[in-house]
Amino acid sequence: MWKRMSESLNPYEIAQRQIEAAAEKLNLNQGIVEILKRPLRVLTVSFPVKMDDGSIQVFEGFRSQHNDAIGPAKGGIRFHPSVTMDEVKALSMWMSVKCGVVGLPYGGAKGGVICDPRKLSEGELERVSRGFMEAISQIVGPDKDIPAPDVYTNPKIMGWMMDTFSRLNHKFSPGVITGKPLILGGSKGRNESTARGCVFTIVEAMKEIGKPMQGATVAIQGFGNVGRISARLLHERGCKIVAVSDSNGAVYDSNGLDVAKLEQRKDARLPLDGDGASKIGQNELLELEVDILLPAALENAITSENAGRIKASIIAEAANGPLTPDADEIVNEKGILVIPDILANSGGVTVSYFEWVQNLMNYYWSEEEVNGKLADVMIRSFHEVNQLAKQHNTNLRTAAYMISLQRIAEAMKARGWV
Ligand code: NAD
Repeated sequence: MWKRMSESLNPYEIAQRQIEAAAEKLNLNQGIVEILKRPLRVLTVSFPVKMDDGSIQVFEGFRSQHNDAIGPAKGGIRFHPSVTMDEVKALSMWMSVKCGVVGLPYGGAKGGVICDPRKLSEGELERVSRGFMEAISQIVGPDKDIPAPDVYTNPKIMGWMMDTFSRLNHKFSPGVITGKPLILGGSKGRNESTARGCVFTIVEAMKEIGKPMQGATVAIQGFGNVGRISARLLHERGCKIVAVSDSNGAVYDSNGLDVAKLEQRKDARLPLDGDGASKIGQNELLELEVDILLPAALENAITSENAGRIKASIIAEAANGPLTPDADEIVNEKGILVIPDILANSGGVTVSYFEWVQNLMNYYWSEEEVNGKLADVMIRSFHEVNQLAKQHNTNLRTAAYMISLQRIAEAMKARGWV
């Protein structure tokens, strides 16, 4: 589906081309495509923060709301020195698509602040977080736009932001943001939700290719929140985790690694190798002959350079954008089943949605209820996408885009926008 394009393209241009390609397949009218190709609203803010040494530093940030035809916009806030407006715009478009695939009543948004949180003291980080929320408070709210954590932001920061918004509006407003600490209305199961959702899609994909989970071999790139929890859940389902990596290195054991021990090493900030597992190259891990390859680290892990050497039967994109469009085409040609990021990692935003629903009701579910509802959404969505892919003789990514854009287009038409 994707036209071959340079791998160093700006993310906003990539997102626009992806939307154009799916829209073409759906025969969407040009007006709809033009609306979808750009965010409805992007706010740029500059806000002063008093630093610990008494100086004033002005920070710049963005909030992009791509579309709100189906419901309020939803998407994380990242703190990173390399945040750009184009990146935030692209990410907000992908959030619209992600919410659409699983049928959440949300549009997409994303925010970012240009800063290096590792260089900020705790007090400075709090003042940056509160300053950004104050600066965007006009356009966010439980029925307008609901942020969440993203790169280098976390529940503590969400708690400060929720407090700032609540104070500005003189009312307790937990529904303005998700990914909060439990005591402030966070949802049970949120921490594991992305990995859990990803594993539900893997189970269905394995049935599709006729392979059992019991004894299936797995390689996981990235042993952070999503990677390690996926390892644990896949191990519980009988899979053999033969290789994992983090930013420092990779380990391999053909008999299966001891996931619990690896988690202990990670918690103790020890390198992954030790306890008898052999070290392998981080890139070598991606090219192992395994049933399931789970990239759960960064974008662009698989490019046209290494895509031809991937030997997995299934690639579950736990990370956002781990395959470049060129790599995607190559692995598709090889017949590898790719569960696209917008479906594979949508468990996180799904439980964020559950958190918001619980906040609006002020009634909270048990972890079993949350996990059960997550299973329903992920399994139903996988099959909707898979069925459409078969109907149109296309891959899961194209089908996922088609389902999503169709839903957004229908809402825009019903509202009379086009
Ligand atoms: P994290 O920071 O907890 O973990 C990332 C892991 O990747 C770390 O273990 C890090 O050491 C490792 N890593 C970095 N560079 C690497 C390399 N070159 N080779 C191997 N490992 C490397 O992040 P996370 O929350 O687990 O997110 C991982 C991915 O999943 C990201 O792409 C993120 O956008 C995506 N995602 C996360 C969530 C969520 O709920 N956490 C939701 C949707 C998507």
